[in-house]
Amino acid sequence: MSQPQSSQAPDTQHPDTQHPDSQPLLALTPGNFLFPGAVNTLVLAGESGQALIVDTGLDESHARKLLRAMQQSGLTPAAILNTHSHADHHGGNALILKRFPGVNIYAPPTEAAIIRYPLLEPLYLYGALPPRELRSKFLLAPASPAQPLDAGTHTLGGVSVQLTDVPGHAVQMFAVRRGGLLYVADALFGPEALAKHPLTFCVDSAAQKASAAGLLTLAGLGLDGAELNRIGLTVPGHGDPTTDLRALVQVNLDSLERTTAAVLNACEQGAASTDELLARVCEGMGVQMGNAGAVVLNRSVVAAHLSELLAAGRVVLSIESNRLLFGLPD
Ligand SMILES: [Zn+2]
Repeated sequence: MSQPQSSQAPDTQHPDTQHPDSQPLLALTPGNFLFPGAVNTLVLAGESGQALIVDTGLDESHARKLLRAMQQSGLTPAAILNTHSHADHHGGNALILKRFPGVNIYAPPTEAAIIRYPLLEPLYLYGALPPRELRSKFLLAPASPAQPLDAGTHTLGGVSVQLTDVPGHAVQMFAVRRGGLLYVADALFGPEALAKHPLTFCVDSAAQKASAAGLLTLAGLGLDGAELNRIGLTVPGHGDPTTDLRALVQVNLDSLERTTAAVLNACEQGAASTDELLARVCEGMGVQMGNAGAVVLNRSVVAAHLSELLAAGRVVLSIESNRLLFGLPD
């Protein structure tokens, strides 16, 4: 996650001058645009300049720049689709809704509930009422009235999209397909993001792996398939667009398996609590956590992989001296 950039620039500008924050939409395929950022936003254009916005970024700053870029391309927001409820994917909703009150917001059902009641995000990460340190904009976005939507083919804001469930990174999440363009949200991370955050966030590591592998099936492919033409361009939530979906899936599966192995290795050093296992995993992977948010996020990752290992019978839990411990079976 990137730190917010403050802007002294006013919102209004002389039409002949370039705004200092100006950043244009990038055309991906006809009618489909990318507004790149720490979190990528997709802008899918329909008829008459109406557009569906897919994910709105971390905050007002991202949304303000997005709206400016859309205006410069002659596009007006008609609907918002949030692929999942993490704050960096819906933090821009509030500003867009303030400027365009008629815009409908959609999200998978559990995610819509969190977007409506965003305190749920730091609450589930911490496990109780979150302290001030866990209420930054990175974990707590402004509330917005998201409506629950199931997977399938939908017309949102006049734009037809195919939504596929890709759970694991969040309880629910959508991959969004329009023609040959596939936005996988955080089901897959770009290689740079994986290198920067080796403990890839997930709440269900087994589902995250299945969703990643399933994206090749979605494209009409098996892992051994040879044809990748049906999906011409894949865009991850964090990272650059790629024409090589297979390679993106493989680098993500490798990263997830490395984390499972690291958690198992930590258990092999002796039964320990989640926090102790987290410290062992971080030491092994060279991860240094500097704030409370990083600790609770990475703690969830370790807990997710522990759940996968528990379900497979490779790890057992016990309670000793009032501590919940995870270790190898006898
Ligand atoms: Zn996310």
